[in-house]
Amino acid sequence: MTPLRVVFIASEAAPFAKTGGLADVAGSLPNALRRLNVDIRVVLPGYRQVFEHSLRQEPVWTNLNTWLGSQRLTFQVRKLPIENVAPIYVIDREDMFDRPHLYGNDDGDYYDNAERFIFFCRAVVSLMHAWDFTPHVVHCNDWHTGLIPVYMQLEPAFRQFKTLFTLHNIGYSGLFPSDKFALTGLDLSHYQPNGLEFYGQWSMLKAGLVYSRAVSTVSPTYAREIQTPEYGKGLDGVLRNRRASVFGLLNGVNYQMWNPETDTFIPARYTPDDLSGKRICKAALIQACQLDGSLMERPVIGIVSRLDVQKGIDLIIPILSELIESLKVGLVILGTGDGMMQQRLQRASESYRGKFAFIQRFDDEFARRILAGADMLLIPSRYEPCGLTQLYAMKYGTIPVVRATGGLNDTVSEVNEHTGEGTGFTFKHVDSTDCLTAIQKAVGVYRMPLTWRRIQTNGMSMDFSWEKAAQNYLSLYRELMRDSTI
Ligand code: ADP
Repeated sequence: MTPLRVVFIASEAAPFAKTGGLADVAGSLPNALRRLNVDIRVVLPGYRQVFEHSLRQEPVWTNLNTWLGSQRLTFQVRKLPIENVAPIYVIDREDMFDRPHLYGNDDGDYYDNAERFIFFCRAVVSLMHAWDFTPHVVHCNDWHTGLIPVYMQLEPAFRQFKTLFTLHNIGYSGLFPSDKFALTGLDLSHYQPNGLEFYGQWSMLKAGLVYSRAVSTVSPTYAREIQTPEYGKGLDGVLRNRRASVFGLLNGVNYQMWNPETDTFIPARYTPDDLSGKRICKAALIQACQLDGSLMERPVIGIVSRLDVQKGIDLIIPILSELIESLKVGLVILGTGDGMMQQRLQRASESYRGKFAFIQRFDDEFARRILAGADMLLIPSRYEPCGLTQLYAMKYGTIPVVRATGGLNDTVSEVNEHTGEGTGFTFKHVDSTDCLTAIQKAVGVYRMPLTWRRIQTNGMSMDFSWEKAAQNYLSLYRELMRDSTI
């Protein structure tokens, strides 16, 4: 069979530029597909972080250009000098992407994100004109790439390309005021409810959802949830209209990067057969967070999360005294985001010194130290498209306690303390008491060391590798190729 040719476009990819799970996916899925013989090329914005991470390579194209409104903007395309991975091309234009952050700073989103990502989408189209690479599938990810399927439909040369739009989080819709619409170069027939218009504004996410041949999201449960008013953020109707071409494919884990047997960032390595290293990691975490030594014999709960309403971290504030004083658990939270939430966590951690540590930063190494050193990882999300930290936690023998939504529902199975089956503890409602009940059950099982050990082993032996997940994407690409209706 001729190899499938795919262009994979995303706004971030680990390890070059990362704010969340999208980067983990874009950094791993293309390589897993390449191992399945897919001829795949990745396109990213040329952020400062990308170039800092990878020495600048001679540009492949020095003088491409595209329109932004009535302005013609030039840009370069550089290829990153990395061997044996899916080739990565970056769209390089300093005034757009050479900034300290990807999308904004403490004051909020950059004021010109519409300009930046309209430009990015249009630059990708120009690149595809210049390329001697004709893809079968153009795979776009999240709102930053949402205009690409529109341009693919409008350009006669590209109309035969099958576009797949993967939705990693419907909460980020790339919503902009009407006066920015002219920058897209699209005529006004696209500015209507069947097109990009969204309640008086217009949405780049909606563009991707409406104009792509197929839509996928990152777990089967989330694919169903986003078709309901409760989870659809106003786009559920659009998705219901397209239900025959909406797919839910679970994300994977790059076990070369997330594995306690090989992770050099954690204080000691360990395997499912010998967890003594995990105890060393717990002791080191307790010390690093200046928690009470007595917590060595009590459960320590970790959280590694963006501090966004989505993540439900606020649910734990009303139950802190139950957790710390009655259940006598330790708590370590690593996260950044919402300013109010940061303040509340800071204050609470000060009043429970020695029991509760709040680390307010983005720190990949410390995230790993929590994944390895904690006994449980708490993820009380209001919604969770897939969630990666619960998958990492299982691999690190850290038992997830999660709200059963989206990918959390698809990947964590409820513990049966009588049989020792299951991989974690779940609760159903967005409710502090429900969350507390799940943690109480977990603490009860923690007191049964043999059962706890068995559940750790269950989680550590789960296989959420990208190899499996990439097979599902490959099948979807092939289905797209075969089926003229999607
Ligand atoms: P989301 O993409 O919604 O943020 P995911 O669970 O899919 O959630 O992915 C989050 C990723 O970001 C994980 O790799 C997690 O370890 C990482 N992460 C989140 N917050 C932090 C932080 N403060 N420091 C380091 N890594 C973090």
